[in-house]
Amino acid sequence: MLQSSPLKVFVTGGAGYIGSHVVLALGEAGHEVLVYDNLSTGSRAAVLHGELVVGDLADNILLRETLERFRPDAVMHFAASIEVGESVRAPLKYYRNNSANALNLLEAVRAAGIDRFIFSSTAAVYGNPPVVPVTEEAPLNPINPYGASKLVTETMLRDLAAADPAFSYVSLRYFNVAGADPFTRLGQDYANPTHLITRALKTALGIFPKLQLFGTDYPTPDGTCIRDYIHVADLAQAHLDALAYLCSDMGTCTGTGSAGACPPSLICNCGYGRGFSVNEVVAMAREVTGIDFPIETAGRREGDPAELVAASDRIRRTLGWQPRHDDLEFILKTAWAWEKKLADKQSGR
Ligand code: UDP
Repeated sequence: MLQSSPLKVFVTGGAGYIGSHVVLALGEAGHEVLVYDNLSTGSRAAVLHGELVVGDLADNILLRETLERFRPDAVMHFAASIEVGESVRAPLKYYRNNSANALNLLEAVRAAGIDRFIFSSTAAVYGNPPVVPVTEEAPLNPINPYGASKLVTETMLRDLAAADPAFSYVSLRYFNVAGADPFTRLGQDYANPTHLITRALKTALGIFPKLQLFGTDYPTPDGTCIRDYIHVADLAQAHLDALAYLCSDMGTCTGTGSAGACPPSLICNCGYGRGFSVNEVVAMAREVTGIDFPIETAGRREGDPAELVAASDRIRRTLGWQPRHDDLEFILKTAWAWEKKLADKQSGR
């Protein structure tokens, strides 16, 4: 990508798991960052670079004031609720936090004259894809409110970019993000973690009595769900690549319809293109930890598709993304180092 000068980036949800890794990567690349986060699931300690404003996306006054003051070149929007199971039980929370708040943000972004936007979307917009690996052209049929609430934002972005030629966005459809900063400075730290890898490792530490396997009767080779696990540091790099892409024209952009145009908006899958079953993840977690932690077969979790694996050619081709950690063992090793650090901290060691 052409852009290399420092940029100002406004990051919603930058105190959360993925946002904090991206903020660190932005800092290491020399960019200026303002994190806007309500700290509902994120933490102050996870913001290792830039300024933190504690605020809610529903607070239009603070949001607009902060955007006006910081005057970013681009916005990255991470702040969201992210649990599939919870979204089935509490759908309106998801439409509020993920759809309505994104609308607030987009209105504020356009009012402030900001025209570059990077959105944390999800593979959940595909639902149960008919063909795997799933390409970005696959039908969008979310099977849970989480995916549906994110699709609302993708739809707003599509329509906004069509109506407003000065506005460009990159929507990154995350597959299963896992692992921790390779130097153990950051990692996942949720009060009630639901994701497979985190729960497996916390079970190995004895924090949970056993790991439940949600469904062993799926139409997959071993009956458990298959997912494309991507290391959080590679995902962070995808955001830097998306930023460079959107800002490659800085100063010359006169709209997508004209010569010297803004880069066209883009939707990219973020995954490696390779899937692992729940059983395979459990086996690797046992190998990495050296602990034969207890597991228990349980019923299917509502809203879970059988298999989600990314076709990842587009992001490699258009953004020049070159992942460095396409390795389930490395993902688990970094997550394990982080979990042990958290456990030591909690026990005061
Ligand atoms: N899963 C499981 N036990 C758990 C947590 C998750 O069997 O304690 C399964 C889940 O049903 C899904 C896969 O692991 O098939 C990945 O789930 P996760 O919540 O990590 O991510 P998601 O795919 O929902 O984004």
